[in-house]
Order: sequence, then C-alpha cells, then structure tokens
Amino acid sequence: MDFQLTEEQRAIRDAVREFAEKEIMPRAAEIDRTDQFPAEIFQKLGAHGLMGLHIPEAEGGAGADTISQALAVEEISRASGSVGLTYAAHLSLGCSPIWNWGTNAQKKKFLAPLARGEGIGALALTEPKGGSDLAGGVQTTATLQGNEWVINGSKSFVTSGAIARSINVLCKTDPTQGHRGMSIIIVPRETRGVVIGKVEEKMGLRGSVTTQIFFEDCRVPQENLLGEQGKGFYYAMTTLDGGRIGIGAMALGLGRAALDAAIKYAQERVAFGKPIADLQAIQFMIADSAMELDAARLMIYRAADLKQTGKKFATEAAMAKLFASEAAERACFKAIQIHGGAGYLRDFPVERFYRDNRLTLIGEGTSEILRHVIAREILKAN
Ligand SMILES: Cc1cc2nc3c(=O)[nH]c(=O)nc-3n(C[C@H](O)[C@H](O)[C@H](O)COP(=O)(O)OP(=O)(O)OC[C@H]3O[C@@H](n4cnc5c(N)ncnc54)[C@H](O)[C@@H]3O)c2cc1C
Repeated sequence: MDFQLTEEQRAIRDAVREFAEKEIMPRAAEIDRTDQFPAEIFQKLGAHGLMGLHIPEAEGGAGADTISQALAVEEISRASGSVGLTYAAHLSLGCSPIWNWGTNAQKKKFLAPLARGEGIGALALTEPKGGSDLAGGVQTTATLQGNEWVINGSKSFVTSGAIARSINVLCKTDPTQGHRGMSIIIVPRETRGVVIGKVEEKMGLRGSVTTQIFFEDCRVPQENLLGEQGKGFYYAMTTLDGGRIGIGAMALGLGRAALDAAIKYAQERVAFGKPIADLQAIQFMIADSAMELDAARLMIYRAADLKQTGKKFATEAAMAKLFASEAAERACFKAIQIHGGAGYLRDFPVERFYRDNRLTLIGEGTSEILRHVIAREILKAN
C-alpha cells in the first residue's frame, strides 16, 4: 500500500493550488456576497486545461487520473466552495456520463467542448417530487416522435442549469417500466422548449447557479439518447457513485480552509495574556479537526484509487463522502468556536465555509441515504 502521491499527482495538486490561491481565493468573499457566477474564473480554468482534467486527451481533456481529479476539486473548493461545487459538478455530472456511455459522435459534439472549457455541463435528476427517491420522483417524460425525443416535465436544483452548454436529463421513456423505463438524454440548453426557472437563493455556495428547469415540448434528435434506452436510472446511480468522491473532496477542501483559518486565528488571538493556541481546549479542537480531515483524505484517495483501477468503489465512495462531509461540518463548527464572536461575523471567512459545506451533507445523496447505501452493502456481504 502506497500512501504517497505520484509525481504527476503532486504536480497537478501544486499547480491547481497555485491557480486557486491566486485567481479564486481573493474573490471568494465577493462571489459569496454578490451571488454572481464568476464566468471568467471558468474561462481561466479552461485555459489551464482543468475543465476536462479526467477526460482522455483524445476527447479534449487532460487525461489525469481520479485521485488528481479529487485533488483539483479539493484545492479549488478550499479557495471557494461556490467555484468548487460548479467545478466538481461539471466534471462528474456534466462530463463523466458522456465519457462513460456516449457514442463517438456524442463525445465529439458534446463532451469535447465541455472538456476544452468552452462550456459547462450539468445533470438534471432531481424533480419537485423528490431527489432521494428518484425512482418514484421522476415524472419528466421523453416520447419518441419520428426521429426526435419530445421532453416534457420539470427538474429542480440543477447546478449550473441556467448557464450550462448541455444538460444530461433523466427522463421516463417508458412509463410502464418504473426505473427500468428511464433514460438519459443530452439536451443543449439553448434548445427551444428549455425554460429556465428562477435562480435559487441559497444559504451558501452563492455564485454557483442552482435553478429549476422546465421542459415544454422540448425536441432533440433521437441520437441524443445517452447509451442504451432504459438504462438511465443505472447511469444516474453510477454517476452519483463517482460524484460522491468529488463532493467528499469538496468537503475536504472546505474543512481544510476552516482548519487553516482556525490555526491562524488561534496563534494571533491573545486571551489571559497568551495566544489562545496555548490553551488545551483550543488545541484539542485543532487536533480533532486535523485528525478527522486526514482520515477523510485517506478515504477519498482509497475510493478514487478503486474507481481508477476499475474495482468496485460505490460503498467506499459513499463512506468517503459521508465521513468527509460530516468531518468538514465539525471542522467548520470548531473553526467558528475558535474565532469566538469574530467567527459569527461576515468579516471572517469561517461562517462562509460553514454555510458552503452544509450542502455536502445533502447533495448527491443525503447522509441518511448514504448510511442506507453502506448498510445495505454490508448486510448483503454478511
Ligand atoms: C445546492 C444544491 C445543488 C444541487 N445540484 C443538483 C444537480 O446538479 N442535479 C440534481 O439532479 N440534483 C441536485 N440537487 C438536489 C439534491 O441532490 C437533492 O436535494 C438531494 O438528493 C435530496 O433530495 P430532496 O431535496 O428531494 O430531499 P428528500 O429526498 O425529500 O429528503 C428529505 C429528507 O428525508 C430523508 N430521506 C429520504 N428518503 C430517505 C430514506 N429512504 N431513508 C432515510 N431518510 C430518507 C433525506 O435524507 C432528507 O433528510 C442539488 C441540491 C442542492 C441543495
């Protein structure tokens, strides 16, 4: 077992860290305050070859491995949760399904521009009737008329939905077959019949655009069906398995940001004649956060390594995301505590880390659903 990153992984991590500290971190508070999508940051991410980091070079990407993908998401999220979520969703929800199941023509038409950074990708699974219960919640239909799919219905909480170049949409293509009658269809956002709803006002991750999308007799060519008809639910679940590594890495980045801020503050703030970092109560909080984030990191790398080497990784990815998101939640809580009253003010970044991280316990499988997924696998194996 090798606990060292390869030379290439370290190089990618260092390059992304440098980019994130220079181009993203100084703007994070303003992105949060204004709730404006920072398009120019994504243009720069594209120019640095990061928008298709894990996609093969032949498809317009950089051909990096899954651990490198997690490292990039962690570093970007450490600088800004909003940019981190948009980036993580673009890679694992927008690009990966087309890479995994797309035809060569679809890869050329839809994936390569995303990987080159010419647009952002999105995945629309959740609907007003449900996110955890996708099998029961999906009501959006796609009906084949001639050589076109006609899509009707609505999706909610679509990350980057309003700005995406293309959206992978989970639809019912045979309503009589339950989850076996679902398919994913690639829909360019500018297609007629795609109506973007209001941009949601979120507690955190402001600047990441989350919207409802309505499909009103939206017509796309038959060849926009991704993979096989009827396999959409399986593709969605498999995509979420991979996405959980990304959300775990995002939480790790935010937890690290909170811990870094707490350490700095503890060393500067003086109480009772000495820095609060000298107090055991503060040291214990720092030690617990450092330990838990380190454990989260190892779990994320393990899940990423299993995925990269083609082994079963769904349970490990669920564990990594569950543990990392809750560890980061505790690290953010402690960082605010270490800041005392200052931690409650917008003048310091720790309250933003806390708000931003909250999503990581909900999106791409709530903590409750993940515990269910993990327990089901363990009970099946015993
Ligand atoms: C900022 C943000 C970005 C998002 N981005 C996307 C996106 O890009 N694409 C997309 O498709 N979706 C996206 N989502 C939606 C997200 O994936 C769902 O919100 C999430 O899956 C939960 O679904 P829900 O909101 O319908 O909650 P519900 O499923 O209604 O859950 C409500 C509560 O019930 C619990 N619960 C439900 N079922 C069970 C069960 N079987 N056992 C135990 N507890 C259960 C849940 O854990 C939760 O606590 C996003 C959400 C947010 C907030």
